[in-house]
Amino acid sequence: MIAFISDIHANRPALQAVFDDIDRLGTVERIYCLGDVIGYGPDVEWCIDAVTSRCKLFLMGNHEHAVLHGAFGFHAGAKRAIDWTRRQIEALDPAAKRKAVQDLLKSLPIRHAIEDVLLVHGSPRDPVMEYVLESDLWEGADPSKIDEIFDAIPRLCFVGHTHRPGVFTADRCFLAAGELPDGYDVSDGKYLINVGSVGQPRDRDPRACYTLFSGDAVYFRRVTYDIDAVSARVRAVPELDPRFADRLYRGE
Ligand code: ZN
Repeated sequence: MIAFISDIHANRPALQAVFDDIDRLGTVERIYCLGDVIGYGPDVEWCIDAVTSRCKLFLMGNHEHAVLHGAFGFHAGAKRAIDWTRRQIEALDPAAKRKAVQDLLKSLPIRHAIEDVLLVHGSPRDPVMEYVLESDLWEGADPSKIDEIFDAIPRLCFVGHTHRPGVFTADRCFLAAGELPDGYDVSDGKYLINVGSVGQPRDRDPRACYTLFSGDAVYFRRVTYDIDAVSARVRAVPELDPRFADRLYRGE
């Protein structure tokens, strides 16, 4: 079994709960991280270290990109969080640790392939930035967007970025993770699977989310964690918008 995690957003209790769940299962051979380890949350160094030590892959998310290159297109609160996150990294001590983290972020890949399974943060045609949304399937949406995205998928593509877990099918359906309690067979055809968010779910289920992949099927896992603990830490940092703490309770 492979585990995909994404969008941790510096939420240590959520990431720890997911790793504990993976360890309890005992069937996961490798963990791949699809990006956005940082941004919004307080536990910058711990989350980078934990992902680096436990995951076979750490992909570039738009929040890592923003720390390196500037938070273009971010709303004011998210930009302040990115600027604060960058300062946390610049303040890492000793200097060798700081340089190691900065070098790591600069070297993050934007895509990774496991045979015919593509891994990106956002979308196969714009790996770091583009969102693939349920609304892209709605009437009135430009149909060429989903067509081009599926054309760029070898067989399967795992993404994060929207924080809304589920499966997009080639015949233009979105199956939300909550509708798939027994998993979903992806052995035949093309699929784009959103693995959900560990540290900031936005599908109105506040539990940490990650995804297991057997080679034939995907299984969405939800894990409770100590939201009070991380929200108290968010509120203790003036540069982090307290709304980032509130939304964790609602899963939005
Ligand atoms: Zn994210």
